[in-house]
Parts: sequence; C-alpha cells; structure tokens
Amino acid sequence: MASQHVETQTKPPASVDADAVSAAYQNALRVIGAVEPTVAGAIRSELADQRASLKLIASENYASPAVLLTMGTWLSDKYAEGTIGHRFYAGCQNIDTVEQAAADHAKALFSSPHAYVQPHSGIDANLVAFWAILTHRIEAPALADLGARNVDELSADDWETLRQRLGNQRALGMSLDAGGHLTHGFRPNISGKMFHQASYGTDRDTGLLDYADVRARAHEFRPLILIAGYSAYPRKINFAIMREIADEVGATLLVDMAHFAGLVAGKVFIGDFDPVPFAHVTTTTTHKSLRGPRGGVVLCQPEYAEAVDRGCPLVLGGPLGHVIAAKAVALAEARQPSFQRYARQITDNAVALADGLLSRGARLVTGGTDNHLVLLDVGTFGLTGRQAESALLDSGIVTNRNSIPRDPNGPWYTSGIRLGTPALTTRGFGPGDLDRVAELIVGVLSATSPAAAPSGGASKAKYVIADGVASKTHAAAEELLARHPLYPGLDLG
Ligand SMILES: *Cc1c(COP(=O)(O)O)cnc(C)c1O
Repeated sequence: MASQHVETQTKPPASVDADAVSAAYQNALRVIGAVEPTVAGAIRSELADQRASLKLIASENYASPAVLLTMGTWLSDKYAEGTIGHRFYAGCQNIDTVEQAAADHAKALFSSPHAYVQPHSGIDANLVAFWAILTHRIEAPALADLGARNVDELSADDWETLRQRLGNQRALGMSLDAGGHLTHGFRPNISGKMFHQASYGTDRDTGLLDYADVRARAHEFRPLILIAGYSAYPRKINFAIMREIADEVGATLLVDMAHFAGLVAGKVFIGDFDPVPFAHVTTTTTHKSLRGPRGGVVLCQPEYAEAVDRGCPLVLGGPLGHVIAAKAVALAEARQPSFQRYARQITDNAVALADGLLSRGARLVTGGTDNHLVLLDVGTFGLTGRQAESALLDSGIVTNRNSIPRDPNGPWYTSGIRLGTPALTTRGFGPGDLDRVAELIVGVLSATSPAAAPSGGASKAKYVIADGVASKTHAAAEELLARHPLYPGLDLG
C-alpha cells in the first residue's frame, strides 16, 4: 500500500537549543498577536499556568518543542483523504511522506505489522477499530455470501439485513468504576449505542482484575469484541490471558492502551504485558504517556489492515497532516534510548508516590501501582473525590476525581483521586520529589473536612481547609516546581 519508503532511522537527540526555541516562539507570538492579541495572550498564559502547576493528571503530559513546532505548519492546509499513495486529492506527496514516516516509526516502536496514524483522538481511534472489526468480521463475510463486491451491489433487503447485523453485535469491556473507558461500550458514547455491552470488574477484596471472572463472563456473553484497557486501573494487565479468553469464545481482542502506550513504547510493559503481539487490534492516544501531539493511532494484525485503513472517510474527517507529522516526530523521540529511561522513571515515580501515600496512612485501590497511576481512596479522609480535588487545587496540586470500584458517592462526586506521574516525570521529578508530593497531598486532605450542607448533614461538594494549609502547600509546591522547570530556557520575551 505504501507508495514509497521513507528513511526512519532515529538520530541521537539534538541538544535542545533553548535560544532557537525561544526565538521561534517569540516571533510566532508577534505574528499571532498582530492579528488576534487575545489568542497570543492566552498562549502566553497557558505556558505560565502549566509551569506553575503541580500536574498529577494521569492523562496529561508536556510534548517537546519539536513536536509542538511541527504542528504550526502548512501541512495543516492540505486535504488528503484516503491512504498513503492512494488519495482522493492531488498533490499529497508531502503528506504521504509524513504519514509514511509516522506509520513506519509506529510499526518499529511497537513491533506491529500495521499502523494507521490518521485518527484525530483516542475516541476516533476506537471508532475506527470498532468499524474495522465489524467490517472484517460481519460485513466482508456477508458480502461474500451474497456474491457482492461492495455494499452498493446489495439489494435493499440485503442491505437492511446487513445493517441489522452490524448494529446488533456484543462487546465486553472493563466496567467504568473499575477503571474502564466510556468508549468501551458505555451508553454516553456511540459504542454503547452500537453494541450490546456487558462488563467485567475487579475482585472485591484485592481490587485486581479477576481473569477467571472475565473468562466466565466471556463464555456466557459470547462477545464479538473483547476489550481490554483502562484509564484508571493502577495495575498492568496480562494480555496473553486476555487473548486466550478471546480465542476461546471466538472474539476479537481489542486493546486500548491510550493511557499506558508510553510504558509499552518505553519497554516497561514487555512479554505478556505488551498488548501489541496479543491483540488483533490495538488503539492508543498519542498525547498521554506517549508524550506526542493530541491524536490517536490504530495498530493491527495484517488481516485487519485493509479495514482499518478505511477509517477516513468511513468515520474520520480529512487527515490532519500537521498532527500526523508531529506524531512522526514524537514517535521518533520515543524510539530513543532516553525514552526508555523516561518510561522507567514514570513507574519508579508512581511507586514512590504510592509508597509515600501508604506510609502516611492513605488507602490505595489495589494497595499500590505497577503503572503510571495511583488511585487514592479519599473516603478514609472523610471526603468525596470532588472535595479532595478542590482542596488540592486550592493548594496548588492539580488532580482529578475518579470513581473507585463500587463507589458509594457515584460517578459525579466520587470517592477517589487519580494521580499520574507522566507529566511531572517529563519535568525531571524523581522518587524523592514524589514522596514530598505524597506528603503534601496527605497534609492537605488531613486538614480538609466537609462543610455542612444547607439542608443539614455533610455536603458532598463544599469543604473547609484548616487555616494556612493551602497557602503553605502552595509555597511548597512552588519550591518543587522551581527545582524542575518546564521547558528550561524557553523565554517568551
Ligand atoms: C483518554 C482515553 C481515550 C480517549 O482519548 P481522546 O483523545 O480524549 O479521544 C480512549 N480510551 C482510553 C482508555 C483513554 O484513556
């Protein structure tokens, strides 16, 4: 399918030239500000805000200047529907070049037979994956049975039958409160409207994924698609077992590694814990632990490649050439040995954070972590997730509230706080720093209590922090941040 081969050898990282990056952004902001000063101002403020916040949001990171600069280019101006070398528009040679580079890097990095780098986000990548599986498993055999080459050749009745079949398949994924994602068949997302969905959870006592339970549910439910992957589960998953289960019931295994792709890329998750060799289809975002531009990628086994490549225009709008180019840059970065050190540091930092919290009496879902995130049960502090999130934010610590398994406060107020280390690790934080972060978090939560609700009883949203704790914590957070500057040397003038 590739029209050309692009050299994707990785080079040692050029020493980051802070002066060149500063000059690039100073000039860019002058150009932007001359047209729309509000936007130039917001761009400046965003850097200041990012620099000043202790960011523990598990799904966020800081992309490199090379990745960011790649997006601000005229590769944005091209329409390039279709695939490499097979476009519905003329003059796509440079988009072909960057898309081939991104796909080659993705294939090499993840040892995947095929990579489709056009999805605009993780949700889009999952939608491409779902339709590729439906196309390969349902549509293609139906067309063959009916002796039709494509859907346009079907009679009105056959077309209606096929539509009914496509819309009546089953998917089995991890439940939301165990850490699964909305796009794994839940009602607010299109996947929940497309599929009959069932979910598996985690063990009531250990909080760990219970493979025997997944197997039992798969045998009972007989899904077309078995989905593995999460956004809030603090442990690794054995994908060899998940594939075994999928094979037993004739399901396609779809792994969504949106959160932990950086740990796969950085060779922390290897062997049975690397999803790519086991999954028929693997999806990811590129902006979380992988540290690239906002976007998605679909990896797959050869038999799904043709269907995956139909993503645009099946469910995706025209490819974003500038973002695909930035994916190529980020994936090239992830192939450097330094990225493996980064990935290892992410998990070392998460363990240090977990140990720091546990040693100060906190309760963690599953009792710890072996990935990039920690799920803290704030019920032991007498708080809801909403109160804990707000009190921490008042103290200069940015987190997000999250349900815990069988959450007594439901999905809005919740009883958990999700803490992730990819962003702070990019800034150069080490285990000692994360222990200090744990100390600050426990200090704030211990000093916070629910306020009285207007109707009597305790509020689930309002809270009070003991005098002086928020400002003292803020100062301590600033001290940590100053030791690990974000984009060191980048000066906007
Ligand atoms: C973040 C996430 C997504 C969605 O990614 P977007 O880029 O926000 O669309 C999908 N699946 C999982 C597991 C995620 O964590």
